[in-house]
Amino acid sequence: SRKPLIAANWKMYKTPAQAQEFVKTFLPLVANHDRDEIVLCPSMTSLSVVIAAVSGSNVAVGAQNMHYAGEGAFTGETSALMLNAIGTTHVLIGHSERRQYFAETDETVNKKIHCAIKHHLTPILCVGEQLEEREAGKTEEVLMRQTENALKGVEPAVAKNFIVAYEPVWAIGTGRTATPEMAGMAHFFIRSEIARLLGRKTADSIRILYGGSVKPDNASALLNQPEIDGALVGGASLDPQSFAEIVKY
Ligand code: 13P
Repeated sequence: SRKPLIAANWKMYKTPAQAQEFVKTFLPLVANHDRDEIVLCPSMTSLSVVIAAVSGSNVAVGAQNMHYAGEGAFTGETSALMLNAIGTTHVLIGHSERRQYFAETDETVNKKIHCAIKHHLTPILCVGEQLEEREAGKTEEVLMRQTENALKGVEPAVAKNFIVAYEPVWAIGTGRTATPEMAGMAHFFIRSEIARLLGRKTADSIRILYGGSVKPDNASALLNQPEIDGALVGGASLDPQSFAEIVKY
């Protein structure tokens, strides 16, 4: 069975001091809580302090983005090697905000996936349809395209500790959550696609997280769906109490 994973995406919030303060309050709230894996994804400038602050605890740290090249003249970018060198273990790839505002495409997402794997970072691949796509009945088509393109050239053996996050774009930051049944169906579909591409065994081992307005009061209904293996939390992860409540759903 798949161990639930609850991840915080802090987006462009929190200074290093605020990030450190969060960890100080948060760690005691989840101490000895081993049922779930916990990952915090702060901004680049807070990675080091958060990694130091969670050291020796049950909490891991991920980045929100990275470049797909090993190194090079890419002003303002951060490489997988740099992230790995400071103790980052996970990385969000292809978040819808990156796709929407920073011209990230299925192709750059695929390059980033390969680069993350090469540098021993666990990718958290984000997929999800926009409102117009759902209303046009294209949800499955979009999920299939994003999943298939992201996984191009990825071997089943490597994909085992791969993580996927289903985040319907219309549910992000809107307070509008997918119903547990809707999310469950999308997760089932994504897993079937992964099975088609990488085989049933790999598909069954991959965790698929739900993201989009997850709050303490809707977390358990979502996370109790058999196909939902965790959550990727934005707004509600900024507060240590709320995020701890979600972790302990
Ligand atoms: P919210 O939880 O604020 O809707 O954000 C979801 C998200 O984008 C997590 O990556």
